[in-house]
Amino acid sequence: MRRKKIYEGKAKVLFEGPEPGTLVQYFKDDATAFNNKKKGTIAGKGVLNNRISEYLMTRIGEIGIPTHFVRRLNMREQLVREVEIIPLEVVVRNVVAGSLAQRFGLQEGTPLPRSILEYCLKNDELGDPLVTEEHITAFGWASIQDLDEIVQAALRINDFLCGLFLGIGIRLVDFKLEFGRIWNDEEMMIVLADEISPDSCRLWDVETNERLDKDRFRRDLGKVEEGYQEIARRLGVLPEAGPIDLKGPNMMQ
Ligand code: 5GP
Repeated sequence: MRRKKIYEGKAKVLFEGPEPGTLVQYFKDDATAFNNKKKGTIAGKGVLNNRISEYLMTRIGEIGIPTHFVRRLNMREQLVREVEIIPLEVVVRNVVAGSLAQRFGLQEGTPLPRSILEYCLKNDELGDPLVTEEHITAFGWASIQDLDEIVQAALRINDFLCGLFLGIGIRLVDFKLEFGRIWNDEEMMIVLADEISPDSCRLWDVETNERLDKDRFRRDLGKVEEGYQEIARRLGVLPEAGPIDLKGPNMMQ
């Protein structure tokens, strides 16, 4: 059966859902980095990110933060609520890494005295530039009230995920969140959207500092698939047949 494609991103496709207000989120194996300059595929990534994001979104929902996640449908797809996406990447950092290290010439791995929040505008042509709260409210990407809710949610999610990952021997170095609006008559609710996975988080082994996330792809560190598998294994969501099971079906149109 052909489905209507609503949007195709770099790592995911959104299809029309089975009922109004829903979408099907399909996870691809495609990977990009450095604003699309580096492209590749990571075998089984879509299957694992589907499971990892299902797990993390469910746990976050349980602590009272609304999310777009409804349920996982199959190996590569999940049912989500349709949201009006807020065009911001909300980055939370606990340890210096990546663009923060570059921007200020800091040593990667230095713990931050407190968690730092940053915002980037979701705009590929501009390379997702860093923006301030002043820009966000002045240009109407989100209101002061929206931002207040987003900050509270991002910090709670950070506290919760830091503990969850520490319990499985992983340091949550930094991660990126996206939020959306759901309208119910005149009432608006902000919900966590997109995905939370090793594509959008830096996850380091507590003992060895080994990178178990997309930096393995970005920086050609090798054993890229194994990083995703290790995170899924430690979270207890690796598909039963293990890595053999990860090829998955070809994408349905
Ligand atoms: P950085 O700004 O250091 O490149 O990234 C900070 C954190 O946000 C990292 O965990 C990184 O994975 C995530 N992040 C930043 N931009 C993006 C993006 O465009 N896509 C995804 N999936 N993650 C991002």
